[in-house]
Amino acid sequence: MRGAPPRIDLGPTHLYVVEAGGQRLVVDAGPDYDGAWQQLEAALQTCGLTPGDIALVLLTHAHLDHSGLAARWQRAGVPVAAGRGDAPLLCDPHPAWFRDRLDATLREHGMPDDRRGRLLRGFGRYAFDQEGGRKLELRVSPVVPAVLLDEGPVPGIPGVEAYVVPGHTPGSLVFRMPGSGWCFTGDHVLEGVNPTPGIQFDPGGVHERLRSLPRYVRSLARTRGLPEQRFFPAHGDATRPLGGAVDRLLQQIERRAGRVRRRLRERAMSAWEITYALYPHSAGRHAWLLVAETLGLLDLLEEAGSVAPVKDADGVLRYRVGIGRTGQHNA
Ligand SMILES: [Zn+2]
Repeated sequence: MRGAPPRIDLGPTHLYVVEAGGQRLVVDAGPDYDGAWQQLEAALQTCGLTPGDIALVLLTHAHLDHSGLAARWQRAGVPVAAGRGDAPLLCDPHPAWFRDRLDATLREHGMPDDRRGRLLRGFGRYAFDQEGGRKLELRVSPVVPAVLLDEGPVPGIPGVEAYVVPGHTPGSLVFRMPGSGWCFTGDHVLEGVNPTPGIQFDPGGVHERLRSLPRYVRSLARTRGLPEQRFFPAHGDATRPLGGAVDRLLQQIERRAGRVRRRLRERAMSAWEITYALYPHSAGRHAWLLVAETLGLLDLLEEAGSVAPVKDADGVLRYRVGIGRTGQHNA
């Protein structure tokens, strides 16, 4: 099918209005900031719709630039459907344990005290840089999604299927419309940006750190096999077919992993030391994302058996090349 669904731009995020089985759906709830809901209502009006005409909101994932307005939609009587794996994050976006767990993780991976302090002080505030330097403060509200989705047809909506792609978040989804050859990829596949997963923890048990990048890579490899080739990302424009965009992401991750591994040939290093060596100038402001990426690449290399962490006397994990999981040399 040609054409494209109507797109609503809300702050940093694209929402899409789709029709399936005679019903209207919106992909992603949108971010919540001053005036966001009014802007959304006005945009729907240009499509001849009001929020009440929407049968269901489909959330691609729990990040606040996609889910911020989910509670508002549900107050307006429109149910929100989300991936089962993202439900804990939606119900409790700021769990009490998260800060301590993140601090301990960053310490274990070598980030110095002053850097961690600075990073954690800014936590819980989210602002999006707009053109002209104006900041858009994004709000987070807990929400219990009315519908939890697993892989397969979206209940009650013929022609739309949820495809589970853990990585960017534990419960990320792609929404497929096989009839039209379209799919909505959220942040799972973007054009021109690598949506590196942040540092994530299992919300249950001992809040174990999730190996998000290896999961993301497996999800990407799986997405490569989807028959839908027209994709609509939540940020930016898609300029090539889905398969080409997926290949670019996989190649980029492989290149970056190779760069990390080469650093480790010189000496054993922690995730922070590698990050600082690779990005000495930008490690300040973007430290959180850069360290998350390095850690993810180290997880990938560790899974492949080409690096292994060893805890040093200072309590910091430093990665070494050539010691595989079974102890054999494979440098
Ligand atoms: Zn996003």
